[in-house]
Amino acid sequence: MTDQNTSDTSTTDSRPLRVAVVGAGPAGIYASDALMKSGVDVSIDLFERMPAPFGLIRYGVAPDHPRIKGIITALHKVLDKPQVRLIGNIDYGSDITLDDLKRFYDAVIFSTGANADRALSIPGIDLEGSYGAADFVSWYDGHPDVPRTWPLEAEKVAVLGVGNVALDVARVLAKTGDELLPTEIPANVYEGLKQNKALEVHVFGRRGPAQAKFTPLELRELDHSPNIEVIVDPEDIDYDAASEDARRNSKQVDMVANTLQDWAIRDVGSRPHKLFLHFFESPHEVLGEDGKVVGLRTERTELDGTGNVRGTGKYNDWDVQAVYRAVGYLSQNIAKLPFDEQAGTVPNEAGRVVADDTVEGKGRFMPGTYVTGWIKRGPVGLIGHTKGDANETVANLLEDRPDLPGAEDPREEAVIEFLEGKGTPYTTWEGWYRLDAHERALGEPEGRERVKVVERAEMFEASEPGKKA
Ligand SMILES: Cc1cc2nc3c(=O)[nH]c(=O)nc-3n(C[C@H](O)[C@H](O)[C@H](O)COP(=O)(O)OP(=O)(O)OC[C@H]3O[C@@H](n4cnc5c(N)ncnc54)[C@H](O)[C@@H]3O)c2cc1C
Repeated sequence: MTDQNTSDTSTTDSRPLRVAVVGAGPAGIYASDALMKSGVDVSIDLFERMPAPFGLIRYGVAPDHPRIKGIITALHKVLDKPQVRLIGNIDYGSDITLDDLKRFYDAVIFSTGANADRALSIPGIDLEGSYGAADFVSWYDGHPDVPRTWPLEAEKVAVLGVGNVALDVARVLAKTGDELLPTEIPANVYEGLKQNKALEVHVFGRRGPAQAKFTPLELRELDHSPNIEVIVDPEDIDYDAASEDARRNSKQVDMVANTLQDWAIRDVGSRPHKLFLHFFESPHEVLGEDGKVVGLRTERTELDGTGNVRGTGKYNDWDVQAVYRAVGYLSQNIAKLPFDEQAGTVPNEAGRVVADDTVEGKGRFMPGTYVTGWIKRGPVGLIGHTKGDANETVANLLEDRPDLPGAEDPREEAVIEFLEGKGTPYTTWEGWYRLDAHERALGEPEGRERVKVVERAEMFEASEPGKKA
């Protein structure tokens, strides 16, 4: 790195390295862990816009995946350490800026993840009854910033996409409210799901079974519900040479293909809700009447020998009254940082942010500025993958240490004085324990592990009783 102002020369020796991590999802927490495990004397503040930490583990992972939600327990060990402080309810960009962070910290790691839906440009996608998966996920996972109700009037529903998020959405739509009641779903979500009229859920993939992005465990889980009959059309089982290669080269691809094949040849049972997995159907148009979804038109595709598909010119119309697109998540632009709109990431080299012409120093590393997690490499991969990411970013930050700009005011109290001086309310790690206990207590009378609190004000009050939100 070049051109760095070292205003505090004590950075490397006589005081802890001060690092701000923005975003307390798995990536930010793993980055904090890697910093603490490095052996370097560090002092970390983990900023989070929500009153509670854990990112998409709390607001993405499906409620009927308690084993995955349980990763939170492992992450507790990181946040319990004295070198890291959670400062929640703080939105980078409005409550605190890059200049503020540069004043108080030697380095900043952004781990702001992704929370929006990637667009799908087909005619009719904006009709009433056409939804993004991320919005639905936020609703059923009790995110405070989305509406409390969700329209679940459709008897037949289409889900576009063949990844794990599509499976989550399809499964939640096909299960009954009572089946989901033992989970942590909030009361408003249970009330909504109880009214759900969906009897048929149709999942559509443009390509074939060997190209689906499902993971084997999540796919097989679909079949475990006593209410869901999973149906695959034998006509949709097809492989070309590239597909056969893919199966030979990846155990995961082969397991997914085998499961789908098994489902295609078995007799259809009598479970009340039908969940169809369709392949070689490329979404062409959402059909509407009076501004509302009344169907989906797909074009039948066929393999072209390379694992890709081409259109056949044959179209199918499906009678559905709602369409959910699960075609990927998208990260948000971060104030004062470059952003690659196409990739939905902050341009970086192994975690070091590379300036573009929207910020000073085009083509060079932005001093003391790093990224990790989904904002670094795009919204793909499981929670575990963010660990390797964090290790790489932190290794580079530590390598840059002698050249870091150096905080003007590295005192740990400085940022607290700054926030309190502005009257900006924040939550703490001790506050998370209080909110956690509150949610568990809400679940106890019904024999549930927890009931999630949705309202921001209630989350804040349970975390920081007596503090003004
Ligand atoms: C619907 C869905 C289901 C999933 N299910 C699974 C699963 O079952 N198993 C699995 O292993 N993986 C699953 N994943 C993937 C997993 O959630 C991701 O791999 C992981 O969460 C990415 O971590 P991250 O920390 O980069 O981002 P995130 O988890 O998105 O965390 C980013 C954090 O940054 C915060 N933030 C954003 N902007 C700001 C700001 N301006 N100021 C302050 N804070 C900010 C956010 O509030 C959030 O807490 C799922 C993903 C989705 C979308």
